[in-house]
Amino acid sequence: MGTKYDQYIHHPPHLRLSMKSNGSVVFDGLMIGHQQLGYDFTIGHQFVTKPFKGDNPCHTHNFQEFIAWYGTNPEDPKDFGGEVVFYFGEEMEKHVFTQPTIVSLPPGLPHCPLEITRVDRPIIQVEIMLCGEGGTREPYFEKDAGFDPRKVMNFEIL
Ligand SMILES: [Zn+2]
Repeated sequence: MGTKYDQYIHHPPHLRLSMKSNGSVVFDGLMIGHQQLGYDFTIGHQFVTKPFKGDNPCHTHNFQEFIAWYGTNPEDPKDFGGEVVFYFGEEMEKHVFTQPTIVSLPPGLPHCPLEITRVDRPIIQVEIMLCGEGGTREPYFEKDAGFDPRKVMNFEIL
């Protein structure tokens, strides 16, 4: 039976994104956004169990984004057990993370692609987007113009 507080309780749907080209999975986890939450906020959480390369060209947003990676060793939160490669800026400056990391991506900062290059044991990836209806996602380089995730990826709600 519903109560007046039910509106404050949400169960994030299970979403899977896979590449139409080769079926590789780039997101398989729980994702909930502003439509459900009624707030300019989206959060995705997934366990990464094997390396993957997101087909996500360098892009910018008109909102703040955070992406974080954590290990899953309950004995030691700083034990990461994986390797993440991430690119910043128009120079595509390459960074390699081998410890728990959060990247803060202000509006307009070019970022990606993203690649998980090593997974010794599952790692957790959390992405947070502070955006609502008007959120944008623009490929940064001319060569990627017109990139549309909906065209190259399957979106499945499980
Ligand atoms: Zn982004």
